[in-house]
Amino acid sequence: MGNIAAALAQIRQGRVEQAALEQLLAAGEADMPLLRAAADEVRRQTVGEAVHLRAIIEFSNYCRKNCLYCGLRRDNHTLARYRLEDEQILAAADSAHRLGYRTVVLQSGEDPHYSAGKIARLVERIKEKYDLAITLSLGERSKEDYCLWRRAGADRYLLKQETADEALFRFLKPDTSLKQRLNCLYWLKELDYQVGSGNMVGLPGQSLSTLARDILLMRQLQVDMAGIGPFLPHPQTPLKDFPAGQLNLCLKTLAVARLSLPGAHLPATTALSTLHPSGRELALQWGANVIMPNLTPLAVRDKYLIYPQKADIIEEPEKTLVQINSLLARLNRPVAAGPGHAWRLTGGN
Ligand code: SAH
Ligand code: SF4
Repeated sequence: MGNIAAALAQIRQGRVEQAALEQLLAAGEADMPLLRAAADEVRRQTVGEAVHLRAIIEFSNYCRKNCLYCGLRRDNHTLARYRLEDEQILAAADSAHRLGYRTVVLQSGEDPHYSAGKIARLVERIKEKYDLAITLSLGERSKEDYCLWRRAGADRYLLKQETADEALFRFLKPDTSLKQRLNCLYWLKELDYQVGSGNMVGLPGQSLSTLARDILLMRQLQVDMAGIGPFLPHPQTPLKDFPAGQLNLCLKTLAVARLSLPGAHLPATTALSTLHPSGRELALQWGANVIMPNLTPLAVRDKYLIYPQKADIIEEPEKTLVQINSLLARLNRPVAAGPGHAWRLTGGN
């Protein structure tokens, strides 16, 4: 207990250092309530009680990359691939708007079919029609592409670093490098996007020291959002026989992220809901303040299989919203009224 209390005090004084982070990540079951309470308190003081809802539209499952962990990898020939047409994406954005969401997240595999111009026009069309913030999550592209999309009106970009361990990154993402990923993240910052990054918990070969470095890297990047979720093994990938990330370690990582990145938006990830039926609720109690309901058309929803058995895989958007509202009512956490821009821009308003 003494070590945990000292590490917590140190971090809350702003001395966010590797050793203290590792100590918190190593907290045993008996110390977990202390860590949870500290993260929950910081969450309340910074980003507040409101929970931001970001509707995610997964518009293509084609991918040119071959990440070892992901079911969309190009070598997974068992997956039926799909691409949504512009009109289908606009219809999903329309549903999101009608349900009262203030942000849409457009996500896909790395699919060159969607040229920079095509994405820019799509962003423009959504912005013209709706008062929606737009997050893009399309992987690694050129600085010119990112620039075009920002000019078209995209507000945010989500590109997880996945792991701060250079060698592990190289192994897991053979088409790219951590350096290249970081280049992209720095371009996005330069272009004045609100930037989200993040990591997976429980990747094969990862240690507590790696997780601490993940959090320090996100601090260095001053990310506006950090997506933290468990690694889930997919049967059609080379990592199929490795165990999933553990719930407790995910929750501890989330809490340590909240303490180290006090103003960041932290989603209760779908991966965590997939790992554990109470994943979403637990995450909201361990520092999270964002939920990303799925607005991908049901006809293709089961094909965006980055990992198997997502919790919300066949659910109607209306039903998802009812469930989110009842969860938030039970936790006494209101839905945020605004678009949920970066805390550094809004100061929490
Ligand atoms: N192609 C884009 C966005 C889609 S992948 C990109 O890679 O950035 C979105 C996220 O899914 C990735 O950032 C990764 O963290 C997560 N993911 C992929 N495979 C996963 C798995 N097996 N378990 C948990 N998360 C996974
Ligand atoms: Fe493609 Fe992203 Fe999956 Fe890697 S994680 S294979 S880039 S969809």
